[in-house]
Amino acid sequence: MTYAEIYRSGREALEAAGIGEAELDARLLLEAVCHTSRNDLLVHGDREITEEQEKQYQGWIALRASHIPLQHITGVQEFMGLEFLVNEDVLIPRQDTEILVEEVLRELTDGSSILDLCTGSGCILLSLLRFSNDCVGVGSDISEKALTIARKNADRLGLHAKFLCGDLFERVEGKYDFIVSNPPYIASGEIDGLMEEVRLHEPLSALDGHEDGLFFYRRIIKECGDYLKRGGSLYLEIGWDQGNAVKAMMEGAGFHEVRVTKDYAELDRVVSGVWF
Ligand code: GLN
Repeated sequence: MTYAEIYRSGREALEAAGIGEAELDARLLLEAVCHTSRNDLLVHGDREITEEQEKQYQGWIALRASHIPLQHITGVQEFMGLEFLVNEDVLIPRQDTEILVEEVLRELTDGSSILDLCTGSGCILLSLLRFSNDCVGVGSDISEKALTIARKNADRLGLHAKFLCGDLFERVEGKYDFIVSNPPYIASGEIDGLMEEVRLHEPLSALDGHEDGLFFYRRIIKECGDYLKRGGSLYLEIGWDQGNAVKAMMEGAGFHEVRVTKDYAELDRVVSGVWF
C-alpha cells in the first residue's frame, strides 16, 4: 500500500468510529509510524510503506477508533516545542497551558526558584527550566506514578528538577520566587460530560476539582503565603468561567497586581498576582 492509500483507509476508519479529528489523527499516526513529516505524505503519497509499518498503523488506528487518546498510542505530546512522554498516569499537556508558561516567562529572571504544584508530566516546570537559565525547579504531585513520568521527562530534556510526592505543599520546604500550578479544576458534576478520551483514559485525580471545581485554588491560595518570597508571584491556570472567582480569592488573600490573562480563544485562562 502507498502512504496515500493507507492514510485514506485510516481516516475512513476513524471517521466511521466517530473520532472528531479523524483526518488529523490518521495523519499524525501515520507520521509516528513512518517517522515522516506532513510533507512526505503530500509530496510522496505514492511511496510504498513496508508491511511492518502497515501492520503497526492498522493496529494504532484500531486503538484510536476505540477512543484511546492519540498521545497514549504514540506515547508523547509536544508542549512548548518540547517532546513530553505521557501515559494514563498524567494529564496530557494541553496547548492552553502554554499561555501559563508564556506568562511566567515574561517575568521570570535567571536564577529564580520555581515551585510547580500538581506537576503531572512536569510539562510546565520543565518548559520554564528549559527556557531560562540557572533557575531552581521543584515539582510536587500527589501521584508517585505521575512523578515517574515527570522524572523521565526531565532526564530526556537534560534538565535538573526536584520532584516531591505529596498533597500540594505537604513535602515542600523553603520559599520560592514563583509558584505555578495547573491544578485539577473541573467540577465533579461535569466529569460525566467530558469526552470519552478524557473521562476514561486520563487520571480522574488530575481533572476533578471537587464540587465547584475551585477546591485546589482555595487551598493553594490559602497556603501559598508560607512558601512565597516577598515580591514572589503565583500563577494559576483556570477554567474559562473561573477567572472572577479565583481573582477575588487572590485579592482577598492579600495578593497585589492580580490579573486575569486570556488565551488565544479570548477565554480567561490564567490568574496571577504578586505577594508582599
Ligand atoms: N501540570 C500538568 C499540566 O499542566 C498536570 C496538571 C494536572 O494534572 N491537573 O499538564
